Amino acid sequence: MRKNIRILVVGGGIAGMSAAIALRDAGIEVDLCERDPQWKVYGAGITITGPTLRAMGHLGILEAVLEDGYAADGIDICSAQGRPLFNIDTTNDVLGGIPSAGGILRPVLHRIMQRRLHTLGLAPILGVSVEDMEFGQSGSTVRFSNGAIGEYDLIVGADGIYSDTRRRIFPETPVPRYAGQLCWRLMTERHPSIERRTFFLGGRAKVGLNPVSRDQMYMFYLEAQATPLRRDEAGQHLVLHELMEGYGGVLAEIRDALSAASNIICRPLETVFVDGNWHRGSAVLIGDAAHATTPQLASGAGMGIEDGLVLAQEIAKADDLPSALKTFMDRRFGRCKLVVDSSLEISRLERERAAPEAQTAVVEKALVQLNQEF
Ligand SMILES: Cc1cc2nc3c(=O)[nH]c(=O)nc-3n(C[C@H](O)[C@H](O)[C@H](O)COP(=O)(O)OP(=O)(O)OC[C@H]3O[C@@H](n4cnc5c(N)ncnc54)[C@H](O)[C@@H]3O)c2cc1C
Repeated sequence: MRKNIRILVVGGGIAGMSAAIALRDAGIEVDLCERDPQWKVYGAGITITGPTLRAMGHLGILEAVLEDGYAADGIDICSAQGRPLFNIDTTNDVLGGIPSAGGILRPVLHRIMQRRLHTLGLAPILGVSVEDMEFGQSGSTVRFSNGAIGEYDLIVGADGIYSDTRRRIFPETPVPRYAGQLCWRLMTERHPSIERRTFFLGGRAKVGLNPVSRDQMYMFYLEAQATPLRRDEAGQHLVLHELMEGYGGVLAEIRDALSAASNIICRPLETVFVDGNWHRGSAVLIGDAAHATTPQLASGAGMGIEDGLVLAQEIAKADDLPSALKTFMDRRFGRCKLVVDSSLEISRLERERAAPEAQTAVVEKALVQLNQEF
């Protein structure tokens, strides 16, 4: 394709940064606008699967992620009392020697991606969002919130689950819906016995621990709740203490150490999926804007990174943008739908307190498919 096209990426999260890096790497002119003037991200840990690490390799950030994060193969499955039950083997020849699982702190991952953008000479427009957009078949005119006007061949909406771009280009798409669980996350020191992702199944909720560096790990606790309660931050540690009653082993130690100073985040899990093309005219959605998933497969961020890579690959090799967007959809739709659907299925099994084997069977089946090159 002619390389003198101009693309605007709206949103500097994981998907938007991935698209901007990959597009710039392919020699395409790209602007990135992010509405948060501080460009910050909340301080939770994130799990990275093997396929996500592979995508990070394509993006040129794998080495830094392995250096500043944590990687280890497999998932240990334990009872609610902390008794080892079995292990899920996450290794796969298809990954070509890349570790098959890991974790990192979100702010650390953001810094790594921001450095990569900087190395490519791409400075985002911070504190700015899109005020108005006239999008046609062959280009869009954008009025930014700072009053500037821009002309672009393509707008990439990477502005997250509550995407304003999605609302503009697909006003008929359903809004995000609550998935019946609250996700508690606690950042804490890595317990020496936790060497890889570890799930505790069979208790009142699914609980997991995952190292995010040599010294730190995070715990998640998926609380089934019919309505998306907002917890009072000051008393969160007391609620979590109560929820963790009856858990043994490492989890009992973590529970005993909870205090008002504990680093806890509690969020309702929500999902949205654009069940058709993610592009209309000269605009396309990627990441959570197109397919926000619940976190059971720990693949939401990975899908966003892959979206950015695939979009850049297809634009670089197609004759025109419509053909690029078509092949982009062909490569992305099924894979992202698998993540959203399987995650919701696991969420259902968790809420129904299905047997651990029934829950992990869905995880394993999905991982086999996700391990395949995207
Ligand atoms: C509880 C929980 C746990 C999760 N755990 C994992 C995990 O372990 N592993 C994993 O892979 N995934 C996980 N995910 C999913 C993952 O966090 C998301 O899929 C990923 O962060 C989506 O990235 P994104 O860039 O599409 O959207 P976002 O991260 O939401 O980024 C959107 C960006 O756009 C900006 N923005 C928004 N509106 C505008 C606008 N109008 N103009 C300009 N900028 C705008 C925002 O400020 C933000 O920077 C989890 C999700 C949740 C909810």
